[in-house]
Amino acid sequence: MNVYDSERMAEALVLSGYQQVETADDADMVILNTCHIREKAVQKVYSDIGRIKPLKKKKNDMIIAVAGCVAQAEGAEIIARAPVVDMVFGPQTFQQLPDMLDEVHALRAKGKKSRLVRTEFPAAEKFTALKSVTRAPITRSPSAFVTVQEGCDKFCTFCVVPYTRGEEVSRPTADIIAETQALVDQGVCEVTLLGQNVNAWQDRQSGLRLDGLLAQLGAITGIERLRFTTSHPRDMDDALIAAHGNNLKLMPYLHLPVQAGSDNILTAMNRKHSAAEYIELVARFRAVRPDIALSSDFIVGFPGETDADFDATMALIEHVTYAQAYSFKYSPRPGTPAAEDEAQVDEAIKTTRLHRLQALLNGQQRAFNEAQIGNILPVLFDKPSKKNGQMSGRSPYLQTVHVTMDEAIMESVRGRILPVAITAAHNNSLSGHLSDGD
Ligand code: SF4
Repeated sequence: MNVYDSERMAEALVLSGYQQVETADDADMVILNTCHIREKAVQKVYSDIGRIKPLKKKKNDMIIAVAGCVAQAEGAEIIARAPVVDMVFGPQTFQQLPDMLDEVHALRAKGKKSRLVRTEFPAAEKFTALKSVTRAPITRSPSAFVTVQEGCDKFCTFCVVPYTRGEEVSRPTADIIAETQALVDQGVCEVTLLGQNVNAWQDRQSGLRLDGLLAQLGAITGIERLRFTTSHPRDMDDALIAAHGNNLKLMPYLHLPVQAGSDNILTAMNRKHSAAEYIELVARFRAVRPDIALSSDFIVGFPGETDADFDATMALIEHVTYAQAYSFKYSPRPGTPAAEDEAQVDEAIKTTRLHRLQALLNGQQRAFNEAQIGNILPVLFDKPSKKNGQMSGRSPYLQTVHVTMDEAIMESVRGRILPVAITAAHNNSLSGHLSDGD
């Protein structure tokens, strides 16, 4: 979502006469678009500001801005601690960027220091502003993100998102379709719908839910692949599950975070579902789409996690089997209930458990990849691989696939979906060759 927001900021600034440059040294303005999910997010922002500060000394009129969720959480504190910063704005206010810039210039013209802080929550206003944005192709990727939903009302006890991104707000259907059409006109054929709780998306006027939106987007000529992320198990409905069996444009990949496999810990996290309910949900997806690749998030060492709780998480992983996963040691986020819990788990225990969990998940990912050897997969080619003479793309299961080919045809395959015979599997990718079928 931050990548998407950064692109929108770049577009808003183009309208104000700016253009994107490659390094901070060449910039008249630097925006740090921050993520509060990262560990030690706040310290990292101040160390980044410290790195940019000497540039501002050299170039006195440089503007430094801090955006995103750390900006939302810290607000005016950032300017108090780092007076070199000119503006601080949250994820729901970046559409005001051109106005903020005008204000900074006006203050400077009067010889005053700018100290703008915009951290209110007008998410609906942001969506209205996005509607009028013309998406300039910043990259030439055939794959693009489209934000459809923002914010979260779930209040998991470890998470800052409800405090930094605000309550759940859905973007209107017509705006999503218009943005998708504009992307298709620029050569995009794969769209990933984004939202903190994307499957909570609903068009309040028509009652349309995510399955219906995916059906409408799939009907756009030129759209070949649809994906969405991130889902919450509690918001999954029958129609969206069924869509994985009947919407041919919807790719067989689902990121469905569970975080833990112990009911005690799921309750302490305020996830509001049990391990058994999650497992049953997975079974319903597999019933309509047996080959679906599952991905998840895991937190190890949540406050109060016992050996038995951890074993329950390992058992859930063994039962479900994942194609991919993201796993982390629990680390407290200031202002969240879990951070105040006195039953914090010893760091060494967290490390040991994380190693065991990642060994299991990595083995499952490797096995999922190896099961593709000998298959022919449709691959959407995106960009040259790091290795010379190879193009890379994505399989329907979101695996990166590297294909060696004649340099002369590399440009011509970009943006096309072509059959690839898979010959080798690695931990994080596959390799193969273009199949004779094309
Ligand atoms: S559902 Fe996701 S975004 Fe919302 S509070 Fe829980 S972890 Fe955070």
